[in-house]
Amino acid sequence: IAKASGKNCYHLFDTAQDDAIKVHRESLEAIRHALDNHEFVLHYQPKVNMKTGRVIGVEALIRWQHPERGLLGPFEFLPAIENNPMMMEIGEWVISTALKQISQWQTLEGNLALKVSVNIAAIQLQQPNFTERLTTLLASQPDVAPHYLELEVLETSALKDVNNVSNTMIDCIALGVSFALDDFGTGYSSLTYLRRLPANLIKIDQSFVRDMLHDADDYAIVEGVIALANSFKREVIAEGVETIEHGTALLQLGCNLAQGYGIARPMPGDDIPAWIDDWQPDENWKAYTRSNAQ
Ligand code: C2E
Ligand code: MG
Ligand code: MG
Ligand code: MG
Repeated sequence: IAKASGKNCYHLFDTAQDDAIKVHRESLEAIRHALDNHEFVLHYQPKVNMKTGRVIGVEALIRWQHPERGLLGPFEFLPAIENNPMMMEIGEWVISTALKQISQWQTLEGNLALKVSVNIAAIQLQQPNFTERLTTLLASQPDVAPHYLELEVLETSALKDVNNVSNTMIDCIALGVSFALDDFGTGYSSLTYLRRLPANLIKIDQSFVRDMLHDADDYAIVEGVIALANSFKREVIAEGVETIEHGTALLQLGCNLAQGYGIARPMPGDDIPAWIDDWQPDENWKAYTRSNAQ
């Protein structure tokens, strides 16, 4: 009996594994189909200077306009292709689409010149031909100067060879693009990456920002990251700024750059120019800035 049930269990496990493989294969096929059918779109979320009132750029965030399931966020499809060559393909699509969007904004009346940041997975940056691919993408949009492109490096803890990645970044910086360290503070070795990677912007992870107003530890982390950015002479931006109070607290800590639902949600590229025309810093931020002006 023991032997029989053991065999049975093994069989059950086997079936479950087969199912998981099947589901995974089906989602890969669906993503392949979506790529071929141009179902991916980019939305853009503004990044602002709360003190000067300037919109400093926008972050491109991928969505899947699914014919049946509606607009899907990145967590619903990117994990499935983490270790698949399609990740590289989507990554290139994102960069080239962002470059086209920059060009489109620049040709509008008023010549809107906007810096766009694009998220790139650590594994993308570790591709041996990353710099060459980026050079080709930039060359295919010759009317866009490379300094309008910023790359936000994700999951730095997945970086295997920091030296190598650092060299790739130096080569890309020579092309004119710049780098940000995304979700800063969440990786195990954030400090090493800060010291060794030539990124001029640090993005304080939204998990710390969100709770900073009622969690003293998170407040201390935000304060610490800002101090760290200052001593390393890097710029710092807070993500996940959901309320005016978050923004005010950040201004008080000396962090002027912000991004979050309290300022704007990600939106289609066509909506960006009107949003920029309308946007003004909150009255509380203006009051704070005035009272601290010399
Ligand atoms: P991220 O780069 O840290 O982007 C910020 C995420 O936080 C976005 O979610 C944004 O919509 C959301 N967000 C912005 N402000 C707020 C706020 O005030 N409150 C809250 N709760 N959330 C806010 P989204 O678009 O779902 O993207 C999630 C993650 O997916 C991104 O995190 C990034 O890691 C990844 N991702 C997005 N687009 C791409 C892409 O094109 N390529 C790659 N490789 N990853 C991407
Ligand atoms: Mg990002
Ligand atoms: Mg982030
Ligand atoms: Mg994130």
